[in-house]
Amino acid sequence: MSASTLKDTYDQVLRRNQGEPEFHQAVREVFDSLEVLEEAGSEYADLSILSRLCEPERQIIFRVPWVDDQGNVQVNRGFRVEYNSALGPYKGGLRFHPSVNLGIVKFLGFEQIFKNSLTGLPIGGGKGGSDFDPHGRSDGEVMRFCQSFMTELHRHIGEYTDVPAGDIGVGGREIGYLFGQYKRLTNRYEAGVLTGKGLTWGGSLVRTEATGYGATIFADEMLKARGSGLEGRTVSVSGSGNVAIYAIEKIQQLGGTPVTASDSSGYVVDEAGIDLALLKQIKEVERGRIAEYAERRGGSATFVAGGSVWDVPVQVALPSATQNELDENAARTLVKNGVLAVSEGANMPATPEATSVFREAGVAFGPGKAANAGGVATSALEMQQNAARDAWSFEHTEERLTQIMRDIHATCLQTAEEVGRPGDYIVGANVAGFKKVADAMSA
Ligand code: GLU
Repeated sequence: MSASTLKDTYDQVLRRNQGEPEFHQAVREVFDSLEVLEEAGSEYADLSILSRLCEPERQIIFRVPWVDDQGNVQVNRGFRVEYNSALGPYKGGLRFHPSVNLGIVKFLGFEQIFKNSLTGLPIGGGKGGSDFDPHGRSDGEVMRFCQSFMTELHRHIGEYTDVPAGDIGVGGREIGYLFGQYKRLTNRYEAGVLTGKGLTWGGSLVRTEATGYGATIFADEMLKARGSGLEGRTVSVSGSGNVAIYAIEKIQQLGGTPVTASDSSGYVVDEAGIDLALLKQIKEVERGRIAEYAERRGGSATFVAGGSVWDVPVQVALPSATQNELDENAARTLVKNGVLAVSEGANMPATPEATSVFREAGVAFGPGKAANAGGVATSALEMQQNAARDAWSFEHTEERLTQIMRDIHATCLQTAEEVGRPGDYIVGANVAGFKKVADAMSA
């Protein structure tokens, strides 16, 4: 049965993908944004393209057996959703976290299509991962898991096919184990098959910093579009992983004061501004808990066990932990305390209800697919360097990243204006991201 309206098409997608709430949420946001095209009778309100776009080109699910340190055989499930290759090889991270299931991977892969389109670089959309929990596992266990994961995945990926990278639970260590196994299995030094590599084996400078830097630059651009930027502003950041740490670094460089960080046990608030060196030592070197930050920092910092980081009054918020971490109540608290801008460092951290609260209050809201696109954009720059067997300087790479983030910001703003929704970065990002993919698909 062919659908005749956006609503019918959306209902068909729901029926075909039952029991996947995060995926429905991500699709719904895009369909809501595309209503402006349907209302205007635009040729882009093309339902056949849209229903094709919602169906992944390929979905791979596989068994990942591995041996733990006690000699027991453990089993996890691996996923790779190759969502859309209209603009380039599938590109997107791998997430290792117990919450990973097919619906989560599809939501992330779907977002990735639009995000990658917005970067202006030739990358399609994909995502993968596993329900493996690296927390508390030894290096040897993580290595054996990664090798087993790649033993299956390697046949599906390649520099012209599908290029995975990191996401939650997958950083430089895991990419190293994965790349090593890919190299052994294929007997090819194919640097462009994975991004987020180490600097001595084909990685790019700035890739580690890129997502957090980019989300901060996006916040700065949104604020500048309304007057003045991040300088002198108090900022809350959630999470304490790679995105949060480098968001905090860039906030400081731009003259703002980041005052929070968090993990699943609670948050720290540091009135004097986060001590970046201490945070890096605890999270990157020791892989410790955020509570230790307050213990070691002394006077200016407090740890709030189980509390919501969004209770802290700030002018700018960068949710950089995980999906749906910022709900309606948190959004109301932030608005009550005078928040001016929210830039999503994580993928879909604000719930739809929270997003509506920000919209109604006139808060500048940068959706993840635009605001956190700096990570994947720098992955595409890593691919460029690999293809040319080149290695760029930090300055040059950061300049490219900064320009890409400014361009994404301008594209979202301009597109929102064109479709009659001035200042709405969600509509701007979805419409602009969609148009480019739709053009390529119909061509
Ligand atoms: N996982 C990151 C994201 O959500 C980066 C993906 C990549 O570099 O391919 O965009």
